[in-house]
Amino acid sequence: MNEMRALEKAFMRLSREMPGRVYCNIPLAKRVTFRAGGHVTILAVANTIGDLRLLLQTVERYRIPYFVLGKGSNLLVSDRGFKGLAIELGSDFKKITLDRNYIQAGAAVSLSTLAQVAWKNSLKGLAFSVGIPGSLGGALIMNAGAHDGCMSNIVSTATIYTNNCDLRILDKTELGFGYRTSSISSYGIIAEAMLRLEPGDSDRIRFLMERYFRKRKENQPFGYPSAGCVFKNASGISAGKLIDETGCKGLCNGDAQVSTEHANFIINLGEATAQNIYLLLKEVQRRVYQKKGVLLEPEIIMLGEFEDE
Ligand SMILES: Cc1cc2nc3c(=O)[nH]c(=O)nc-3n(C[C@H](O)[C@H](O)[C@H](O)COP(=O)(O)OP(=O)(O)OC[C@H]3O[C@@H](n4cnc5c(N)ncnc54)[C@H](O)[C@@H]3O)c2cc1C
Repeated sequence: MNEMRALEKAFMRLSREMPGRVYCNIPLAKRVTFRAGGHVTILAVANTIGDLRLLLQTVERYRIPYFVLGKGSNLLVSDRGFKGLAIELGSDFKKITLDRNYIQAGAAVSLSTLAQVAWKNSLKGLAFSVGIPGSLGGALIMNAGAHDGCMSNIVSTATIYTNNCDLRILDKTELGFGYRTSSISSYGIIAEAMLRLEPGDSDRIRFLMERYFRKRKENQPFGYPSAGCVFKNASGISAGKLIDETGCKGLCNGDAQVSTEHANFIINLGEATAQNIYLLLKEVQRRVYQKKGVLLEPEIIMLGEFEDE
């Protein structure tokens, strides 16, 4: 079966089985923080584990590619779009329960909500996440972090809906965490996770949250679409510093610009295409390699096809 036929069949099956929650040819630019990129062929909102089962069975049956769309704050989607299925997590994945110093939360819960819940319950460990605009699922996949904190410090277990269509609870030691990475996506889709926090003083927690937020406002470009840091730091050397020293601040490709405030951010000045952003990223990578001998590794995840000039 050719690609388009397989996608059509998958769409027909899903529309029948999940009425009102499956959409065709949806622009992703509005759903990613770069505000650029093309369409996804099928977008489905999974409200339950049963929905995930159906979606992954369909993926398997028609052999179509898929990805989970969190808050889209670490994604660069090609202007040609993604020929496959995007899964958004809905109602059952937005729940939060608290048990002493443990927070059990669905993968679609935002980090900002979690940080607020933790603070209001005098639990420390999540203040670092203030200002990271991701979901719990995306943050675990990326092992998101800031201010010397990261997700792997606080996660206890993650419940994964596996590519074999079973539900597995994995211990933190099985999640393959590293610097801005994990091996979770090789298992499947994160449904929920248990965070283990520490009892703390709520005034102190709030103080830290405000301090971290202020720091972001001082150092990061607010008001323009971006996906946060574009590159990972290179063995402890700040990628932003390397880019700055290479004189890339302010460099543009179309409406994509290396931020003048934070060299490791690429911002969308208005009409940047995903290809503009991609080529700018490549140019920065090339210049840093040429002048500093360091090959920066992208932190953002790229989906779909891009062209090297
Ligand atoms: C202004 C700004 C500041 C930022 N600051 C930081 C920072 O300080 N530190 C930092 O680490 N990051 C930062 N980021 C990047 C980004 O917010 C984080 O990487 C975040 O954790 C991504 O979460 P998300 O829900 O947006 O994931 P998405 O971008 O939607 O997805 C990221 C990856 O996770 C996968 N995924 C998402 N949910 C699931 C799931 N439930 N199951 C399986 N796979 C899933 C996606 O398929 C994709 O591969 C920043 C971004 C912006 C725009």
